[in-house]
Amino acid sequence: MSNRTGKLFVISASSGTGKTTLAQALLQNDKNLIQSISYTTRQPRPNEINGKDYFFVTKQQFFGMREKGEFLEWANVFGRYYGTSRTFVEMHQKLGKDVLLLIDVQGAKKVKKLMPGAIYIFLSPPSKEELRRRLEKRGTESKAEIARRLKVAQQELRELNAMYDGRYLCDYRIVNRDIRKATEIVKTIISAEHLS
Ligand code: 5GP
Repeated sequence: MSNRTGKLFVISASSGTGKTTLAQALLQNDKNLIQSISYTTRQPRPNEINGKDYFFVTKQQFFGMREKGEFLEWANVFGRYYGTSRTFVEMHQKLGKDVLLLIDVQGAKKVKKLMPGAIYIFLSPPSKEELRRRLEKRGTESKAEIARRLKVAQQELRELNAMYDGRYLCDYRIVNRDIRKATEIVKTIISAEHLS
């Protein structure tokens, strides 16, 4: 067991930006990095596995956990609830693992208040048109849902340009034009943060 506490990396990106693909590449490359598995009330997509992609729970279960303070942060994203398990993050950091959170901007803001020392990375799409194209290509959302996600994405970009307690929300902002390049940049950030 390592005697150092692991670091917390928070990656936020608008839906469809490519953060899941990026995270998979990071996790394959770095065995000391573990992704936090969130709880959600949304329905699983056809290829998703309970306990691997998310813990899929009912609203009642989610609200019960929220009441008991089991979430480090939680958010209502597109009408469904998502939450990060406090125990998961704390336990793995204590074991010396670096923990990766893939959460939305609202969630990142909440975590930043609690954990200002974590590293905040934002992945943005090259343009709104490209984001629309990616969401349409994924084919898992209806037209109305895509329109909603694009609207939220614009709001999130505005939030990134705002200051919170004299600081920007994110430490690093990466435009995802090419997922391999974006992954290389994040790998470099992780290595550099270990040296700091
Ligand atoms: P999706 O339904 O496409 O998997 O995720 C929708 C959005 O919810 C994404 O932006 C994703 O990062 C975010 N999300 C997933 N898990 C959590 C979580 O635990 N907390 C917060 N705040 N957002 C989350």
